[in-house]
Amino acid sequence: MLLTITTTLQPATDLGYLLHKNPAHLQSFSLSFGCAHVFYPEASNERCTAALLLDIDTVHLVRGREKAVALDQYVSDRPYVASSFLSVAIAEVFGTALNGRCSQRPELATMPLPLQATLAAVPSRGGEVWLRRLFEPLGYTVTVDAPPLDEQYPEWGSSSYFTVTLEGTCRLSELLTHIYVLIPVLDNNKHYWIGDAEVEKLLKRGQGWLEKHPEREQITQRYLKHRHNLVRDALSRLIVEESDDEAGEVGEAGEADGKEEVTERRIGLHEQRLIAVVTALRDSGAKRVLDLGCGEGKLIKLLLQDKSFTRILGLDVSYRALELARDRLRLERLPTMQRERVSLMHGALTYRDKRLEGYDAAAVVEVIEHLDPPRLAAFERILFEFARPETVVVTTPNAEYNVKFATLAAGKFRHKDHRFEWTRQEFQTWAAQLADR
Ligand code: SAH
Repeated sequence: MLLTITTTLQPATDLGYLLHKNPAHLQSFSLSFGCAHVFYPEASNERCTAALLLDIDTVHLVRGREKAVALDQYVSDRPYVASSFLSVAIAEVFGTALNGRCSQRPELATMPLPLQATLAAVPSRGGEVWLRRLFEPLGYTVTVDAPPLDEQYPEWGSSSYFTVTLEGTCRLSELLTHIYVLIPVLDNNKHYWIGDAEVEKLLKRGQGWLEKHPEREQITQRYLKHRHNLVRDALSRLIVEESDDEAGEVGEAGEADGKEEVTERRIGLHEQRLIAVVTALRDSGAKRVLDLGCGEGKLIKLLLQDKSFTRILGLDVSYRALELARDRLRLERLPTMQRERVSLMHGALTYRDKRLEGYDAAAVVEVIEHLDPPRLAAFERILFEFARPETVVVTTPNAEYNVKFATLAAGKFRHKDHRFEWTRQEFQTWAAQLADR
């Protein structure tokens, strides 16, 4: 399996800094399923290409799994085609680049660069059309080549594996992320994942683009084909996942990211929003705080870090989201004092609930747009008439900002479950009217 990445940025050999791999060296890495080699077939000032060659050990994969082994387990397409093995190799060998970091030349990691990636053999049951539907909405010029199955026997037709080239101007981390997520979607075989953690990591990589991709449902379904229980929640989770993955990567000695860079890591929109909410809550002097529609508990996690919040109640209608919140917050493992500050509650924001009374403040982050207008009216009463916290912090997407999302068609919402997305004026009108009442 071969992946090549080319840039014509000048000097093109800067690609070596971005990938944390010196263009002058051949480097080999041992992975649990075989070997990965990184080398540069060309490295000039004008053009530089890095190659990631995977050498998958099918014998090793099969050994120890089952007593009786069928021949086709040894003789398979696995060593040659782009599959989840490639995703794992990208994460292990190019992890820093995948995470958009570059300690030596930080500006390179945040800059859109002229890039081209070629994947030697991509399986695609849906053929060229499906390949294009996956990559073209992300802004790439896609070239698909279907070589003949055997040049000597043209009557056998073309191969069901494609050589795919993606060309575009984007950050290297974006290109790697798109390949990382979409290659396993194309492959019909069982995925090579170590466990749930791998699925979680993968969901996280979709953040910022997958929720706007026109094929997001297909992608999610195919991605999670062996984990049906996750499909239901995956899309909404993709939107809110944050990067708390500080996993290291195999690389050259002394290349580990410095502390400073970790601190200065790019902060995503949702994280910025949550920080703004915490600041507003803190400024209000609130001690007892509600997080209504808490989802997986990201805000709660931040609130817990601030001792001025003595009591935090998270409520959500999704039981699955609450389970994830419990895991994310490691509630069971918190010391008693900390543990007693938080509770999670299953419930709907549209029914009066005595347990929501007696709080200083409520945060309602990216929730109201999920409510139909009659339910929104019910929610207004529940919160302002019955629960009556002194301070309410509400966030909802700004529809005027949507033009900034390159892959979001005009007039479309950011998420399929959104019932509305307001302009700033519409939000202001709603809030002012409610405050008056
Ligand atoms: N506040 C979180 C999650 C936002 S996603 C964050 O910013 O990360 C919207 C959340 O609202 C989802 O978790 C969804 O389950 C929840 N939600 C939607 N309608 C709800 C309702 N009627 N009652 C309670 N929670 C609701």
